[in-house]
Amino acid sequence: MKVTDHIKRAQGKTLFSFEIVPPQKGKKIEDLYKNIDPLMEFNPPFIDVTTSREEFVYVEKDGLLDRKITRMRPGTVGICAALKHKYNIDTVPHVLCGGFTREETEYLLVDCHYLGIENVMALRGDAMKHQRYFEPTEGGHRYANELVSQIRNLCEGKYLHETIEASKTDFCIGVAGYPEKHLEAPSLDFDLKKLKEKVDAGADYIVTQMFFDNSKFFEFVEKAKAFGIDVPIIPGIKPIAVKRHLRLLPQVFKIDLPETLITEVEKCKDNKEVRQVGIEWCIQQSKELKDAGVPLLHYYSMGKSDNIKAIASAIF
Ligand code: FAD
Repeated sequence: MKVTDHIKRAQGKTLFSFEIVPPQKGKKIEDLYKNIDPLMEFNPPFIDVTTSREEFVYVEKDGLLDRKITRMRPGTVGICAALKHKYNIDTVPHVLCGGFTREETEYLLVDCHYLGIENVMALRGDAMKHQRYFEPTEGGHRYANELVSQIRNLCEGKYLHETIEASKTDFCIGVAGYPEKHLEAPSLDFDLKKLKEKVDAGADYIVTQMFFDNSKFFEFVEKAKAFGIDVPIIPGIKPIAVKRHLRLLPQVFKIDLPETLITEVEKCKDNKEVRQVGIEWCIQQSKELKDAGVPLLHYYSMGKSDNIKAIASAIF
């Protein structure tokens, strides 16, 4: 079922969902199941599976370093199919512009359709580690709105090189939104204009970047409405788990952390205490968002899911 239909069917009740990052290659899928199993009692209507773009590795050859391209994690669509089968649940693969040509994207979407995966998150992806700014892959898309258009075309039976009326897909498309603006955007208004372009291109719902101050989310939703964005906006939230997050999250995502949270984390003697502070903060955030009637709370689960379970137990 589509994400938007799950939301409609819930009739105002706040749903629980989460996102997983595929483990590095070489691991077994049972490791992933072990982290997902404890979260299934909260009846998530779907699970998101992130995609990582290709990376460079340097291999020594004849005394010189040779640059090779590799992928560090197994393919998202395969994992989505496995989870769908194991848990009888909808899965949402993240589809990236970066690292994929339009043709590769089409094959990936054809696979999704074939496997009965009805939802996809359309994202640009980030710059590669050696790049300062994102550079589109040759033959790929520059911005997520172009990717949304490609997916929407497939829903009309328009493939890249032919139109096959009988093979229309019916994807529900999610896109990313940034309550504190995307790090490259010159202003929040500029970013909202671009978000509106993604919706106009055919996006059905928005999932936000993490935030730690709910007022940022509420203001964002109001501003989005003023820009004519009328699709569901799902808050994406993440519990702080280690002290290092105090520096890392603002640095990587250009988001602010509230002073009270910083003070609480700084007081912690070890990361076990930090994890508990993160859980408590996220419970408070979740309660407020749920009381405000958000359609769904979407949690970023990185690796171990014990903290998400503790939060979900308090909320759902
Ligand atoms: P876009 O919507 O293309 O926007 C990128 C930037 O370009 C913004 O600053 C925007 O304002 C600007 N812009 C957009 N269109 C135009 C235009 N026409 N002209 C000029 N400027 C424009 N990354 C991964 O690698 N894998 C994942 O699985 C993944 N999942 C994510 C899930 C969520 C919910 C979120 C919020 C992010 C996720 N990301 C993921 C990170 C995401 O790929 C990065 O944040 C990326 O830098 C931007 O992606 P986007 O789809 O928002 O890009």
